[in-house]
Amino acid sequence: MTSQETIELSQANILPTYKRFPIVIDHGSGCRLYDPEGNEYLDFTSGIGVASLGYGDPAWVSAVSEQAARLAHVSNLFHTEPPARLAAELVRRTGMSGVFFANGGGEANEGLIKCARKYSHDRYGDGRATVVSLVQSFHGRTVTTLAATGQDVFHQHFFPFTEGFVHVAANDAAALDEALTPDVCAVMVELVQGEGGVLPLSQDYVDHLATVCAERDILLCVDEVQTGVGRTGSLFAFERYGIQPDIVSFAKGIAGGLPMGGIMVGSRCKDVLGPGDHATTFGGNPVAAAGALVVLERMDDAFLADVAAKGEYLRAQVRSWNSPHVTDVRGAGLMVGIEVDTAPGEVVSRCIERGLLALTAGSSAVRLLPPLVITRDEIDEGLAILREAIES
Ligand SMILES: *Cc1c(COP(=O)(O)O)cnc(C)c1O
Repeated sequence: MTSQETIELSQANILPTYKRFPIVIDHGSGCRLYDPEGNEYLDFTSGIGVASLGYGDPAWVSAVSEQAARLAHVSNLFHTEPPARLAAELVRRTGMSGVFFANGGGEANEGLIKCARKYSHDRYGDGRATVVSLVQSFHGRTVTTLAATGQDVFHQHFFPFTEGFVHVAANDAAALDEALTPDVCAVMVELVQGEGGVLPLSQDYVDHLATVCAERDILLCVDEVQTGVGRTGSLFAFERYGIQPDIVSFAKGIAGGLPMGGIMVGSRCKDVLGPGDHATTFGGNPVAAAGALVVLERMDDAFLADVAAKGEYLRAQVRSWNSPHVTDVRGAGLMVGIEVDTAPGEVVSRCIERGLLALTAGSSAVRLLPPLVITRDEIDEGLAILREAIES
């Protein structure tokens, strides 16, 4: 089908919940994507942080294809090898104690919230189920994770939302202290708020948060759906802050392009979820797990150090423009926010016209989440386009 035919078929039949760009992506290779007519795009989005190894990575393709041919699905009533090996690898590399696999970020955060509330209920009984999260956070699109999300634009239409969520301003220790009343069971944060604008939490704030949570047996829960799996230059962002959370959710980049998410729990929560407490038909699917094993294996220390260095390089390049239209450059690793003085959506549209795919975050930032395998030459090539789009 031509691009035009696909767009018409899509618009006639898929509910218009996304304002899609008027292009069709047909295939990809490395950090490049192509439409059916053969037009090429350099990708600074990795499908919103998902295609961590880019497109068509040979080891990933063969692991996924071989697993699909051997066994695609059998349900969690049986053991299979890929998710068992994947969970072992996650536990080994994070100091966490156990893993539950889901299929995406919102679903992972549902598990995180259920685990936190049950931990507290098991120990303290009723009346200690409140979850504190941060203003400008994003935790998902289910009715409960929307309630956890600290942005009023998401608290519309779908009432009643799940009760028991309180939002406090990020990086404000006093506001946090005030919110930690005796009914609180958990604090849930993104260490770098992604959708909200690529807004990192400060080290001091995170230190304070970890201390008060430990003192009061409040669970420290970190949503690493976007920051996890190498994106910020360490396997998980919590390592960069020197904390050991009680529950960590992950999703986007874990399986290199296939739907997968989950939670890792620390020793305090290892025995909270038992048979019947939580479940999913697809979670831990062996094909997605086979892809994730390739992703994790690739992320050795040298790979992660390179992600961190490429991110520093990218931010330094943008700062060196001294552009009057760029008011801030921030982020960690290859999670980059560029605050601009014009509508970021228009900057992104101009990038796409020039062959570069980019994202927005919050109301005023251009967000870059390139595949973690991007080269410095590709970074230079994309930044030349971005600069033109910002300055025109
Ligand atoms: C994308 C995202 C989610 C939601 O993940 P889905 O897979 O879309 O459900 C949750 N939390 C954060 C931090 C995210 O970036």
